[in-house]
Amino acid sequence: GSLPDEERVQHLLDTAHGRYRGLDEGVVADYIPELGIADPGLFGLAVAGVGGRVFVAGDSSHEISIQSISKAFVFALVCDAIGHDEVWRTVGVNNTGLPFNSVMALELNGGSPMNPMVNAGALATTALAPGATSAAKWKFVHDGLSRFAGRVLELDIAVYESEAANNQRNQAIARLLQSYGRMAFDPLQTTDVYTKQCSLLVSTRDLAVMAATLADGGVNPVTGERVVSAATSRDTLAVMATTGLYEMSGDWLYEIGMPGKSGVSGGIITVSPGKGGMATFSPRLDPAGNSVRGQSATRYLSRALGLNLFASQ
Ligand code: GLN
Repeated sequence: GSLPDEERVQHLLDTAHGRYRGLDEGVVADYIPELGIADPGLFGLAVAGVGGRVFVAGDSSHEISIQSISKAFVFALVCDAIGHDEVWRTVGVNNTGLPFNSVMALELNGGSPMNPMVNAGALATTALAPGATSAAKWKFVHDGLSRFAGRVLELDIAVYESEAANNQRNQAIARLLQSYGRMAFDPLQTTDVYTKQCSLLVSTRDLAVMAATLADGGVNPVTGERVVSAATSRDTLAVMATTGLYEMSGDWLYEIGMPGKSGVSGGIITVSPGKGGMATFSPRLDPAGNSVRGQSATRYLSRALGLNLFASQ
């Protein structure tokens, strides 16, 4: 199968935008002070097909810090570099059932970070990035995320500095991982690389292209460049399906039926394997940290575009 024809995809994106732009439930994240200044009215949508066509609606070129959506792509890059079995053993792939920044999840599971989509697992994953120094690991992560997007991504310095001044909890999680022998690199330097990776600027359009790269077996459908292997894309999508929306991943899969990944700046990506990537952006979040408009728009588009993976037709 493939996506419906181009006019239909564009029409459905415009319809989704019109249907949900008035939805103003949820709150903008402000535990990272710089995120709190986001305009809650922003709403962008994008779909990128594996053939390289990109469709957009609303504020799709507005740039936001990528936040936790980076976790999926850094996992893919690290999985590609060190292998399926190694990340399985050292990071894990099971849902914690607890919030993304939970310390309890680590304590309850003998120090296992559990999965790469929560902060503990993302920190453990970033620590495993190739390179002997923090600069080398950052270069690996920055280059890789940029290849997923098909352009060199820039750092939002204000967001980075704001989070770096307020990320004591992530520093503590990294230290706790170290105490369990689960941190492959210096915990504070790893937290710094992780904070930078979360502060890279992307548009909704960029996010759709990044998602489409996972849909396309690791080849960016716009640039034609292979970023990761097909096996790594498959593995990454499996982990996104079980854990991409944190403790709400079950509700997400039940409603949308595709792997997704959210972030606290209001982005969500969704991947239809072999067909394309979808991205939504709107800053107001539900209590788990997932964009309210984004979830509604994605549910609508998943159904209207016929993308639920569990549907037989
Ligand atoms: N940088 C953020 C943090 O570590 C990312 C969290 C998120 O998007 N859920 O808290």
